[in-house]
Amino acid sequence: MLECNDITMHFGVFCAVRGCTFSITRGEITGLIGPNGAGKTTMFNLIAGAFKCTSGQFIYEGEDVTRLSTDQRFHKGLVRTFQIPHEFQHLTVVENLMMVPPRQLGEGLLNNWISPRRVARQEAETYRRAWETLKFLELTHVAYERAGRLSGGQKKLLELGRTMMTDAKLVLLDEPAAGVNRTLLRKLEEKIQFLNKDRGYTFVLIEHDMEMIQKLCGPIFCMAEGAVLIQGDFNTVRSDPRVLEAYLGETVGDAI
Ligand code: ADP
Ligand code: MG
Repeated sequence: MLECNDITMHFGVFCAVRGCTFSITRGEITGLIGPNGAGKTTMFNLIAGAFKCTSGQFIYEGEDVTRLSTDQRFHKGLVRTFQIPHEFQHLTVVENLMMVPPRQLGEGLLNNWISPRRVARQEAETYRRAWETLKFLELTHVAYERAGRLSGGQKKLLELGRTMMTDAKLVLLDEPAAGVNRTLLRKLEEKIQFLNKDRGYTFVLIEHDMEMIQKLCGPIFCMAEGAVLIQGDFNTVRSDPRVLEAYLGETVGDAI
């Protein structure tokens, strides 16, 4: 579904991602692991088009999307969520979902004049979809709360909900489990699995929670210092000495 060919990116003189080549298979939940600072979030930004790579090429569904903007990639079903949730704090939860669908007719003043009924119909449809999403996520009880007041876990669910408001095909999840309590975590896992199996979403999941990675992911790849160290199934990756060394380096570094 997505091929990343020899992707490199610099922040000034610092090389955050170096020569990464890998592919994401349609229908899979692929895990992306690696110690802090490995370049995982940067890689997501590159795939989503928020950062431009210094060199390399992204082929998404057979099309070269390297030069396309975030918006253009979003419209093709390539959607990301954030390590730190990006909710509109002062809007309600349901409004947050209703903000998502691209190209809403009501946004243009002209449309409101020319075809108010069409705009109203579209708004009603968006509301229906938002409500379906809230039901799915079991968040209807907080639908009219301000999003800023949600718990960390609920915000993560809302982030997932935002992907459901689009016609997402490939969803990039950046640390969905961080700061989420155990009960909500199970729910989040269930929802991700359901979206994968029943709605056909393909996921790439950055996560430090190895239990979650093991439970959800088929292929896994591990990054360290901007490069892809190894790609394989959970047991292959876990038992590779290079992976252990990358994580140990982090522990030692933290201790100092
Ligand atoms: P990860 O998500 O694996 O923890 P990141 O992709 O966030 O790692 O960061 C990779 C490296 O790039 C880190 O050394 C980080 O300090 C650096 N980095 C990330 N974002 C920026 C930025 N906007 N400007 C400069 N350096 C950055
Ligand atoms: Mg990160």
